Parts: sequence; structure tokens; C-alpha cells
Amino acid sequence: MTSVLHACAFKDNYIWLIRGQSPDKVAVVDPGDAEPVLAEIHKRHLTPVAILCTHHHADHVGGVENILKHYSFLPVYGPARERIPAVTYRLKHGDHVKLPKLGLEFDVLDVPGHTAGHIAFFGAGMVFCGDTLFSAGCGRLFEGTPEQMHVSLAKFSALPESTEMYCGHEYTEANLRFALAVEPDNADMHAHLQEVQQRRAENLPTLPSTIGLERRINPFLRSGQAAVRLAAEKHCGHPLNSEVEVFAAIRRCKDGFKG
Ligand code: ZN
Ligand code: FE
Repeated sequence: MTSVLHACAFKDNYIWLIRGQSPDKVAVVDPGDAEPVLAEIHKRHLTPVAILCTHHHADHVGGVENILKHYSFLPVYGPARERIPAVTYRLKHGDHVKLPKLGLEFDVLDVPGHTAGHIAFFGAGMVFCGDTLFSAGCGRLFEGTPEQMHVSLAKFSALPESTEMYCGHEYTEANLRFALAVEPDNADMHAHLQEVQQRRAENLPTLPSTIGLERRINPFLRSGQAAVRLAAEKHCGHPLNSEVEVFAAIRRCKDGFKG
């Protein structure tokens, strides 16, 4: 049934190709570059039926117009609150994306923080989260506050544990090194780092992850844990009074982290 292929772009971007009930049709998620998408589509004899965009950054939408030059009829789904050229359906929280050609439907989640209008697509046991949630990490706060990002990440954390998580970048190994600096005694992080290193040595993606795994290894979903709070307080040198403050402190700490 449903499977997800990928094309690699730039240094570490993933462009996801969601395949539904008919094996030759795909929806393209966050095509920052058209060329690797078109190459994958031709190689596997696929037909794109839709483009989904999570946020306006060029490494996620830069290829949309070039793909449309080849497939002008494609509907393009994107966030209502961001300006992305060629978007035909402008989506906000609670909207549904129906892709009958794939037999798939997605719920739209508003997840501001990395950008102000960032959205995610959740459906069929999968979530496409762009640059909001990464495996063992989260996006930088370019246009949002720590409060907004904390709420957005809580939405992901509340999804079923088995949900497959497809994010926009291969950052997992570096993220885990930071995660282990926060929680040096976290056995799940140590075990996952081993697995991730093996996969990277074979040049395989470390994705999808699952929400269940992220709850155990992602420090940005763990600001309620005593060990994470202690590490954040040590970094700041004063007590922190809420999960948002803990989250904000470890996000700031990560910004300056040299693994
Ligand atoms: Zn981005
Ligand atoms: Fe990105």
C-alpha cells in the first residue's frame, strides 16, 4: 500500500514522494529543487498528482515552478499564512487535503515557530513536518517565539506513537550528539546513535522516525523530564519555572553548540 520514496536535494534536504494505492502516482512534499524530483519520477515511471509545501523557505519550495513547467495541472497545497508562488490551495489548521488519486487524506496542522505560517500534513499513519520537528531535534526559531514552537512540538508529541515522522533534513546524527550532551545517561539516545551511524555509513536516510521514538530521544519533546530541566538550569545558571523556559534554554544552547 502506501510507501514513501525520496529524492535528495542540496546538502541534506529530503523531498518525499508519497505513493498511495496506485504504485505509479505520487504526491511530492517540499520540492526545493525540481531536478532530483524529475529524475526520480522518470527513473521509476511515476506520475505526480500533487505538491505539498510545509513552509516558504527556498530549500522546500524552490523547485515548485519548474515542476509545474512539466506538469502544469498539478494542484499545489501550501500554508495560508505564507507567500509561496503557485500555491493553489492555501491551508490552515483543521483543513483536510484529499488526494483521491492516491487514496490518501491528510489533516493540516498549524505548527508555527520555524516560520510564522509553517504547516504539517498528518494522515495514513504519517506526518510530514518540514523543518519544525527533526529527528532528535527541532527547527531554528526564525520567525516564531519559543512559546509558539513549544506548542507546535506538543502537537507532534500528541500524535499516536506509531506515526511515521518525515522531516525535511538529514540532521539526526548531529542532533543526537547534542541530545546526548543534554542527557548523557539516556540509553535510548546511545542505542539510536549507533543505529544512525550505521545507516549513514551506508548512505541510507535515518528517516522516517516515529513519534514514539522521538518522545524518547528528542530533547525538544522532553522539556518536562527532570534530567532535561537540570541540564537547562545548569546551562543558564538559574532555576527555570516552566517547560517553555526549559525548551527555550535548550534551543538557545543548541544554537551555540559545537558537537
Ligand atoms: Zn526551513
Ligand atoms: Fe529547510
